[in-house]
Amino acid sequence: MIKVFKFGGASIKDVQSIRNVGEILQKYDADSLVIIFSAIGKVTNMLEEVVEAYVLQNEKAVLALRKVKDFHSAILNDLLAETHPIYDVVNNLFVEIEWVLEEEPNQDYAYDYDQIVSIGEFLSTQIMSAYLQQIGFKNSWQDARNLIRTDNTYRNAKIDWEITTDLISNSIKEKHTITQGFIGCTSENFTTTLGREGSDFTAAILAYCLDAKEVVIWKDVPGMMNADPKVFEQAQLLNQVSFDDAIELAFFGAKVMHPKTIQPLKKKTIPLQIKSFLHPLNEGTIIKEGVSNANIPSFIVKENQILISISEVNLAFIVENHMSQIFSILAKNRVGVNLMQNSAISFSICVDNDNHKIPQLIEDLKVFFEVLCDKNLSLFTLRYYTKESVEQFLHDKNVVLEQRSRNTLQLIAR
Ligand code: ASP
Ligand code: MG
Repeated sequence: MIKVFKFGGASIKDVQSIRNVGEILQKYDADSLVIIFSAIGKVTNMLEEVVEAYVLQNEKAVLALRKVKDFHSAILNDLLAETHPIYDVVNNLFVEIEWVLEEEPNQDYAYDYDQIVSIGEFLSTQIMSAYLQQIGFKNSWQDARNLIRTDNTYRNAKIDWEITTDLISNSIKEKHTITQGFIGCTSENFTTTLGREGSDFTAAILAYCLDAKEVVIWKDVPGMMNADPKVFEQAQLLNQVSFDDAIELAFFGAKVMHPKTIQPLKKKTIPLQIKSFLHPLNEGTIIKEGVSNANIPSFIVKENQILISISEVNLAFIVENHMSQIFSILAKNRVGVNLMQNSAISFSICVDNDNHKIPQLIEDLKVFFEVLCDKNLSLFTLRYYTKESVEQFLHDKNVVLEQRSRNTLQLIAR
């Protein structure tokens, strides 16, 4: 049975890390593997800078691209001999971006974004495939655009599961396959991306379609923690987490995996292991059916939130038809709500403060409503909170809004 491995950018951020991944994979040589890579290191962020400059028609686009090229060259030069065909492959990928940059930006920012940013994963997988081949780990490189069919919601493409299942089951034939995370393709052959950090989701899609035995996400942390160890000294490793808890924790901002990853795995009860590529012998966290950690409170922080309070101009009550109007404006602007609360005369929503979406959202709301915004907030989620954990947590927070359910306490604070 197939195992699906996913290696994120941090696991291949430099030559030494790449060699480490090579050593890990050699230990699994006997297994049937589908291996998914993100872009190397912070390359996705670097490519986002290229896009930002390009859409503003700023000459910095070329400079920003230069940085990405130099970064990859430095790695390649250390990794593979100058005569290796990979150098041409990599050059050609950069030429693809240069072609885009020569054209006027498209009307659709998200479309341009996907065409440029997706190259990060093509680069990383080509380099990894060549390197692994070189060290004797035979593998076949697959273009994720031949595997993952999506709609044309650029930057957040939706999977066509039926076609994707067919494509995947007909294409994965070799013992070790390497492909890109984060990337899909429309029926018209345009490249799409699945949303930042979407490579985890790619791993889940492949596992689902192949009825894989398990998924392993290799990370620079020991596994899923009950809090971000950078923020909480007493953060502890969760050895076992249920699918439902993992979904909740990821949705509210636990950065350990993309929130969409769990649903497909839960449907087929495929366990997901999160392991450290620095300590590959440690067990890490296993996410599966039928376990519980309701005795350990988890703390999650989601930053860069904006609280938008919506009311009627004449302080009328917020009634059903207003609600439906508000929600359709949210849907039109593709803004998801992290938390909401209403009073008689106002309705408040907490959303990610995305520069490309929120200004338009607010403008659309202002056509019908009075709108107040409060920026630079964080959303704190405490799952399985206890009286003590709440007290310890709240003492230094300036709370703007609070909401409790049986298992979860949420706060918006500055
Ligand atoms: N490279 C993409 C990103 O950094 C996808 C991923 O890493 O999962 O968002
Ligand atoms: Mg990444």
